[in-house]
Amino acid sequence: MNARKTYQVITYGCQMNVHDSERIAGLLDAAGYEPVVAPEVADVVVFNTCAVRENADNRLYGNLGHLAPLKLEHPDMLIAVGGCMAQKDKDLVVKKAPWVDVVFGTHNIGHLPTLLDKARVEQQAQVEIAESLVTFPSTLPTRRESPYAGWVTISVGCNNTCTFCIVPSVRGQETDRRPEEVLDEITMLVDQGVQEVTLLGQNVNTYGVQFGDRDAFAKLLRACGDITGLRRLRFTSPHPANFTDSVIAAMAETPNVMPSLHMPLQSGSDTVLKRMRRAYRTGRFMSILESVRERIPHAAVTTDIIVGFPGETDDAFEATLDVVRQARFAAAFTFQYSIRPGTPAGVMPDQVPHDVVQERYERLVQVIDEIAWQENQALVGTEVEVMFAVGEGRKDGQTHRLSGRARDNRLVHVALPNDLDRQPRPGDIARATVTYAAPHHLIADTGFTGLERTLGGDAWERSQTPEPVGVTLGLPMRRSGGPVAV
Ligand code: SF4
Repeated sequence: MNARKTYQVITYGCQMNVHDSERIAGLLDAAGYEPVVAPEVADVVVFNTCAVRENADNRLYGNLGHLAPLKLEHPDMLIAVGGCMAQKDKDLVVKKAPWVDVVFGTHNIGHLPTLLDKARVEQQAQVEIAESLVTFPSTLPTRRESPYAGWVTISVGCNNTCTFCIVPSVRGQETDRRPEEVLDEITMLVDQGVQEVTLLGQNVNTYGVQFGDRDAFAKLLRACGDITGLRRLRFTSPHPANFTDSVIAAMAETPNVMPSLHMPLQSGSDTVLKRMRRAYRTGRFMSILESVRERIPHAAVTTDIIVGFPGETDDAFEATLDVVRQARFAAAFTFQYSIRPGTPAGVMPDQVPHDVVQERYERLVQVIDEIAWQENQALVGTEVEVMFAVGEGRKDGQTHRLSGRARDNRLVHVALPNDLDRQPRPGDIARATVTYAAPHHLIADTGFTGLERTLGGDAWERSQTPEPVGVTLGLPMRRSGGPVAV
């Protein structure tokens, strides 16, 4: 293959997809391709798609439509479609967009370079969709987005059947990775300068179901605590139905497990939770929260909430507002329910009219923001540990601040000193006093103390080559939770 062939990966959706894109990029690197960013025209354009969001198919086929004239101009360009929409639509992708060259399923990422070669040689579209996982994707080469923070997959797929969710049908049953493999991967990352790891699974609390150990996730957290150099450990997402006291104890007693928890509520109405086929009720959710706060008093808890699920009455929505007021979330990802084809909820009666959903959504966001603001204001005057980061907003020319995350995952914008020798690098860690709070961020305008120039910062410095990244996010990605959550 011509070593100068180039690629671009466009990613939609959740962290699982973002991490899959890192693998797609790694595989293409290993196959001799080079990453480029738009506006340069890549020889291979890969769409890593999401089927969860509203109108996901319109968006995908719209984007493919935009590429059709480019493909006419550059007939050698190959277009590949992978991810959850590919898994769902299979052959339909090439029927609707015949200029697509490769369609690969969520379990077929490892074959992408071969499929591209075949499409090029045979001049014919290649569609490969396996129904279940053969090779765990973490064994594939990876081009990681960040040199100081990384995702590590512990399981893929999900054994639940939430009625609004397409994940079980596009990602299959849960497959767990052996703990030794997970720990080896984390150790290898730490050796390379990674100091923050987020463990990824659709439902991390059922981790171990495949090898028959109900305490496997708690044990894994504790084992991660023994990895020297791993400064921060996070995970996403836990399912409230499977949360155990042993996990809470492991979180509280393992110093590098960060005091932050993203636990999807989805609805504060037990009737709606039942229709969603969520196997917990609000009482259970609140009791987990109580235990977490008892054991980890400074934990910031975030959540996901769907507004306007079919059959949600005014009373049911008020119940959600009540739970939100009691739970005092630090932040919440809120979604307006919309029909997702292929899901049981999509054909339920009592779909809630859009204007009602909109009105409820606005009220909910107002309550969430108000509480988040109050919780943030309580931090003014306190000192937080910040790990500086790229892609978190701002190295703001006017305000002269650099952003990072506190241990509880709150976004903090920290004033920088004028002295260039004291400038932190992404990956470095310092302490800063909060001087101002907004609903979604904190500001530390008196600068920082105790700057640690870390191995993560060194790794970031080494990574600053002119080489482009090659992975583009198709939708804005924010912190944990994202559009796919348990
Ligand atoms: S919402 Fe989460 S727990 Fe429910 S089916 Fe989807 S991935 Fe599984």
